[in-house]
Amino acid sequence: MSAMARKLLVLNAGSSSLKFKIFGLNPFAAGMGGMFDRIGDAANCTLKASAPAEAPGSKGRKWELKIPAKDHVGAMESIMDFIKENVSSAFSREVVAVGHRIVHGLDLSQPALLNEKTIDKIRQAAVLAPLHNPPGLQGIDAAQRVFSGVPQVAVFDTAFHQTMPPHAYMYGLPYDLYEKHQIRRYGFHGTSHKYLAEQAAEMLGKPLSETNVITCHLGNGSSIAAVQGGRCIDTSMGMTPLEGLLMGTRSGDMDPAVVLHVQKQLGLSVQETDTLLNKKSGLLGLTGSNDLRTVIEGAHKGEPRSALGLAMFVYRVQKYIGSYTAALQGKVDAVVFSAGIGENSSLIRGLILQPMQAMGLIVDAAANDATVGGRQGDISTPTSPVRLLVIPTDEELSIAQQTLQVTG
Ligand code: AMP
Repeated sequence: MSAMARKLLVLNAGSSSLKFKIFGLNPFAAGMGGMFDRIGDAANCTLKASAPAEAPGSKGRKWELKIPAKDHVGAMESIMDFIKENVSSAFSREVVAVGHRIVHGLDLSQPALLNEKTIDKIRQAAVLAPLHNPPGLQGIDAAQRVFSGVPQVAVFDTAFHQTMPPHAYMYGLPYDLYEKHQIRRYGFHGTSHKYLAEQAAEMLGKPLSETNVITCHLGNGSSIAAVQGGRCIDTSMGMTPLEGLLMGTRSGDMDPAVVLHVQKQLGLSVQETDTLLNKKSGLLGLTGSNDLRTVIEGAHKGEPRSALGLAMFVYRVQKYIGSYTAALQGKVDAVVFSAGIGENSSLIRGLILQPMQAMGLIVDAAANDATVGGRQGDISTPTSPVRLLVIPTDEELSIAQQTLQVTG
């Protein structure tokens, strides 16, 4: 095989989806990416893919195909057929490594080469991430069948947060629960927070080890991290992604006694309570929509619940920025905004930042308005003591880089 053809494949398996992205290695460059959606629903299963604008031959081309796939293995096989037809007929021989996004890795702080031991760890962690780790394991199984003998690496959403000190990751519960059942805060979106901290250091022109940032990943799922010298010292999500900010469908922080009270009063089962808190709460529960654009529209039309949802979303982000400024002892180089909301909504960034001037967060209105739609930039005024950065997150790129660090 010519050295030019070596490729890396990144996979991200959800309960009924399988996302993929191809990276060329000589030189390192992102290639085609896509997603198989509604796996198991033969009538509606779709494969969507797009080639990067600069790809030779298929410049910016997009595909949308209806292909039935009964499970992740079937989806993986169809993705392979599609890639062989549209990227390279020799693809299965060109792939030299596969990187998997895995949500929960318990105490693993680094990406892990997949072998029996590490796969067992991902299985163990499924107790704490029952919705996320099992599909991840299915993605691993599918890729191992298609690429037998190719090194595969798991990159964990929890890994970046493993540097949190015990006073940040422990809950005020009997110590036994931590020792015997691993009940503690883990944090999620770690690949994104890691990428954002690294990019921010580059934009600031400082070594990562001397850079303190607060990274705000604001999307349908949202979390914030306090990063000191490139190491995470606290993050808003906890043992599961339910803790922290108000999200699209998750409640975020609240008194745990609410759960007990609601279970008793409404007679809800554990499963029903889980669905209530993870799928029916947050912006959806408050306003009827989990899409912040709809909530903003509603607020502009004067709908009181939409205005409330919007105000709660903004207020929680402000509270976390404030508390993480304290966690960083007031030494914050930059606050970073990313993901669907953070990258695209100058309105939300403005609402968050304008009242925080006295804390040294001074937003430049024109730069804020201009930095949307996947643009990267500094939206603070030249005199702002804290830089305010918008950085489009790229979890696949980070997974590809971390996979290469393991496979060499
Ligand atoms: P993500 O989960 O990162 O894909 O982000 C999805 C969220 O971003 C949804 O709540 C969208 O409503 C929100 N979003 C995307 N574009 C905008 C925008 N221009 N203004 C406000 N929210 C947006």
